[in-house]
Amino acid sequence: MVQYKCFKCEKSIVSKALEKRFVCPHCGSKIFYKPRTKIKKVKVK
Ligand SMILES: [Zn+2]
Repeated sequence: MVQYKCFKCEKSIVSKALEKRFVCPHCGSKIFYKPRTKIKKVKVK
């Protein structure tokens, strides 16, 4: 499953939702980006 993120509202959108219309269902933006695959959070000190 591919997830995109809206460039405007930064909400994640499943690629399936973009199949019909390549528009953000939340804000109507047409700019998306692919967020990096899970980033491991490591406490650095
Ligand atoms: Zn949006």
